[in-house]
Amino acid sequence: MSHTTTPARTHGRALRVAVVGAGPAGIYAADILSKTDLDVSIDLFERLPAPFGLVRYGVAPDHPRIKQIIVALHKVLERGDIRLLANVDYGTDLKLDDLRQFYDAVIFSTGSIRDAALPIPGIDLDGSYGAADFVSWYDGHPDVPRTWPLQARHVAVLGAGNVALDVARILAKHADDLLPTEVPANVYDLLKASPVTDVHVFARRGPAQVKFSPLELRELGHVPDVDVIVYPEDFEFDEGSMAAIHSSNQTKQVVKTLTDWTLKEPEELTASRRIHLHFLHKPVEVLSEDGKVVGLRTERTALNGDGNVTGTGQTHDWAVQAVYRAVGYFGSPLVDIPFDEVAGVIPNREGRVVDVDGEHIPGVYATGWIKRGPVGLIGHTKSDASETIARLLEDAPGLEQAASPEPEAVTEWLVERGVEHVEWSGWLLLDAYERALGAPQGRERVKVVPRDELLAAARGAAPRRGADAR
Ligand SMILES: Cc1cc2nc3c(=O)[nH]c(=O)nc-3n(C[C@H](O)[C@H](O)[C@H](O)COP(=O)(O)OP(=O)(O)OC[C@H]3O[C@@H](n4cnc5c(N)ncnc54)[C@H](O)[C@@H]3O)c2cc1C
Repeated sequence: MSHTTTPARTHGRALRVAVVGAGPAGIYAADILSKTDLDVSIDLFERLPAPFGLVRYGVAPDHPRIKQIIVALHKVLERGDIRLLANVDYGTDLKLDDLRQFYDAVIFSTGSIRDAALPIPGIDLDGSYGAADFVSWYDGHPDVPRTWPLQARHVAVLGAGNVALDVARILAKHADDLLPTEVPANVYDLLKASPVTDVHVFARRGPAQVKFSPLELRELGHVPDVDVIVYPEDFEFDEGSMAAIHSSNQTKQVVKTLTDWTLKEPEELTASRRIHLHFLHKPVEVLSEDGKVVGLRTERTALNGDGNVTGTGQTHDWAVQAVYRAVGYFGSPLVDIPFDEVAGVIPNREGRVVDVDGEHIPGVYATGWIKRGPVGLIGHTKSDASETIARLLEDAPGLEQAASPEPEAVTEWLVERGVEHVEWSGWLLLDAYERALGAPQGRERVKVVPRDELLAAARGAAPRRGADAR
């Protein structure tokens, strides 16, 4: 795909496309579409006042290198040919019929922000939390409560992926080690007061089956005053494990890091906090007293040769006062759009959204996590977006024409309805405001959390905070 001097026109004017969700998937889709030979005019809707999706509200604050992806996404939107309309929620502020009035095609890239379910007794107890909620809290998502109960000394984290590692690391890390990051002030204060000493991560399967990435795992070993402890009795490698180690460099590196940790001498473990990594332990029940979490029961599992495990019936109770399940994310249904309740995605064929009969709903597309489920890294959403845009381009000549395609029609409509949308200029003001909050402490930014303060900053009308604002 390349730029031509005269872009192709299918509708006697620029094709009007709405992208709903300004995470990486939506921004990549808009970028790829804008670079095709087709004359297009793209609006990018976002429910939050700030763009960038889980890069801003999922990637951990102590991962500044990954957060830098925002710089690349920022550059795409800064060009000015893709219009940002943030603080507009699909489903409440507008619905599909409204979008059809203004656009010839709509791409949904609304991602996933909820926790997948883990159906074990006690999982809904006070003191048992979803990782997605905790992540939203520590990353300063404006729509979640400002406080988080951090009274537990011993905590269990259920899961064997990078989100489990993020949660364990943020829980165990000394808050002062987060201070150089963009961590919001309320989050720092509560983490600083946390009495936690031990975080136990439980994986159902063996060391060769975990989904940790090597870098994230190795990072655990460098957290100041936090020891990583593994247990030799959890190290079982069957034929399936050996095949996995030999066929995947990633698995090989993960297993090496874990195995190196088994060699640590007890006298090397001097930190005041610990992260314990347990394998072949399947959580079977969250234990309670008076409605509060007091423990976790796990069942020892055994590898059965094909990468899976079976329970041995042998259980162990761990005294923990809080449980975090990091067993995956799950998409949320969107008004007037089909939803696959089992997979948690919008049903689609290569990005073309389909109805219950498998028929493509004309002009409606999906991309990113809401298209293929909540797996994969930010980079994967790019190839995903390419596929969706390729299908849209094939369909473009036959797309029904919107009645009011003028770019100002939709913004006037939003204003009439009292929806305070935030355009790119508003994001720049908000961005500058967060940077100004960080500058006195030499930090790149301090994230603002309350929605009204975010909106005030985007209007250039935020109250000045004192220099002590963390
Ligand atoms: C805790 C966590 C840590 C991660 N860490 C890394 C990492 O270190 N490296 C890495 O490569 N990947 C990481 N990922 C994966 C990465 O975040 C995803 O691959 C990527 O964000 C998916 O992109 P997306 O655009 O599909 O979804 P999202 O990033 O979720 O973006 C969706 C956007 O749509 C908006 N939206 C939702 N509903 C509506 C609506 N109704 N109306 C308007 N807008 C709406 C949302 O507000 C959001 O901005 C992490 C994921 C999680 C959960």
